[in-house]
Amino acid sequence: MNFEYTYLDLPDVFYSVNQPDLKVKKIDLLNHSLMRKLNLDKVEDILTFDENTFSQSYMGHQFGSPVILGDGRAHILGERVVDGERFDIALKGSGTTKYSRNGDGRAPLEAVLKEYIYSEFMYNIHIPTSRSLAILELEDSIERGTEKKSGVIIRVASSHIRVGTIQLAALKGKDELQKIVDYAIERHYPYLTNHEEKYEMFFDMVVRKEAELVAKWQSVGFIHGVMNTDNVLISGDTIDFGPCAFLETYDPNQWFSEIDVNGRYRFNNQPSIMHWNLGKLGESLVQLFDTEDEAVEVLQKILDRFGTYYLNHWFMLMGEKIGINDFDYTNDDDRGIVLDFLKQIEDKKLDYTNTFRQLALKKLDFTPDYGDYTPDYELMKSVNPSFVPRYHSVNAAIELALEGDYSKMHELEKFITKPFNDRVPEYLKQPTDHNFNTTCGT
Ligand code: AMP
Ligand code: MG
Ligand code: MG
Repeated sequence: MNFEYTYLDLPDVFYSVNQPDLKVKKIDLLNHSLMRKLNLDKVEDILTFDENTFSQSYMGHQFGSPVILGDGRAHILGERVVDGERFDIALKGSGTTKYSRNGDGRAPLEAVLKEYIYSEFMYNIHIPTSRSLAILELEDSIERGTEKKSGVIIRVASSHIRVGTIQLAALKGKDELQKIVDYAIERHYPYLTNHEEKYEMFFDMVVRKEAELVAKWQSVGFIHGVMNTDNVLISGDTIDFGPCAFLETYDPNQWFSEIDVNGRYRFNNQPSIMHWNLGKLGESLVQLFDTEDEAVEVLQKILDRFGTYYLNHWFMLMGEKIGINDFDYTNDDDRGIVLDFLKQIEDKKLDYTNTFRQLALKKLDFTPDYGDYTPDYELMKSVNPSFVPRYHSVNAAIELALEGDYSKMHELEKFITKPFNDRVPEYLKQPTDHNFNTTCGT
């Protein structure tokens, strides 16, 4: 396979070279359009492992506490460059690595199937994200309280450099830190490479990208579920679809993850958690400045922009969702139109996704208070999805798949590529009729 390995030019504290261990039973799902985009013919071609296959090391604040980590069950097969764009092609669930600790290096089939559906849906509603190329079912079963089928996801991402990667580098020393940050700049923000103030500009770019990413999540009702610093990418893409979910009834105080006992990562905490995570990134960059005083002053000023970046982007998206073309997202009156409408949705305990779609289709029996504005319905139809992957529909498809019947999974796979199409089966639009908990499925 024609892979590159620029990551391996970094100091070896950032990775360990090792081989996946897979007995593939069959390919359960294959993303044909992504295969084409990557100029790939057959999955088998990428599964002939190069001796350079590696796993990354990083650290992370998990639920607020620092932990030394690394890919405990993931292998990066290499970097594929297509039309000047560089992608990591990685396996998750592919066996133990140097960083596995007590883990078995495996993933339950149900967890990787879930990631496939959610990440591809996010892509199709235009939210920056890692993507899913294929699901492989493995021969071996694994132990998770009960015996389960195991699977591997082939994941494609613009890189896997995390906030936690930079945190680990800062622990190692200034040289390592400078090398990984220069690498991240080269890979994601190349126009900053020769800039005199490249490190502060890099921080500003990441703060902005992540603020805008969370704004996008909030605009569609997405709850990530595990916003640990090792799950936040420097590229600004969504990654790690574990206990994630979409809000159904609009109650911004909700969370669904069983492992998030105190609701740290609940829906309406996501912006402030991202801000906190970026604070950890800022702390990790201090050594790159001449003096600590200078660093703290410069970095704090940038971190303080998070709220403005976030709110401006969120109000802009919400303005589109209510169909106002020339919505002034900085104006308090315009902002009020959005906030009042959301308050009504909350008070009426309505389904978030369906309400915005019905508004777009002129099927809602109340509307935002448009004042002098005339809503633009085509705009609304292009940004308000007609459905989201709901707990009940994804779970039903997964349960059948675990019995070997992929018909519902293939149906879901097809519909998530057309999220603004109203001609979808009714069950996709029906709210889940009970409370649900979603596990990370590790
Ligand atoms: P996650 O919650 O998926 O972000 O995982 C947190 C860390 O635990 C990552 O570094 C994973 O690679 C690692 N990990 C999760 N599950 C396993 C497993 N079954 N075996 C080894 N490592 C794992
Ligand atoms: Mg992770
Ligand atoms: Mg995970």
